[in-house]
Amino acid sequence: MHRDGADPHNMTAEDFLCDFCGSHWAEDRQMMEGHRGSCLCVKCLSVAYRVLAVDDDGLAPTAETTCVLCLMEGGEFPLWESPSTGALACAQCVKRAAGVVHKDPDIAWTKPAR
Ligand SMILES: [Zn+2]
Ligand SMILES: [Zn+2]
Repeated sequence: MHRDGADPHNMTAEDFLCDFCGSHWAEDRQMMEGHRGSCLCVKCLSVAYRVLAVDDDGLAPTAETTCVLCLMEGGEFPLWESPSTGALACAQCVKRAAGVVHKDPDIAWTKPAR
């Protein structure tokens, strides 16, 4: 999410907040942006990826669940729920984000292994 009161024409690292842990962008905490300014940091991505892609776990989607990254309601993919903010990310977004970050030479991130 974007920080309350952030100037959209002059965004700084502190203005990008992870929807899943509330931390702002930093050198070692890169962000993936979803729809409507939602953000997922690489640290939360690791946790979510482990749950959804490595352990094949997560919440089953229902009519009530909405992924904050793609805004899909009641989708077909399992979701990861952030323990700190309760925000939900679907497996499709998490896997897509992991694929992008994994290939980005500027981001030191590797897929968590079993
Ligand atoms: Zn985070
Ligand atoms: Zn999603």
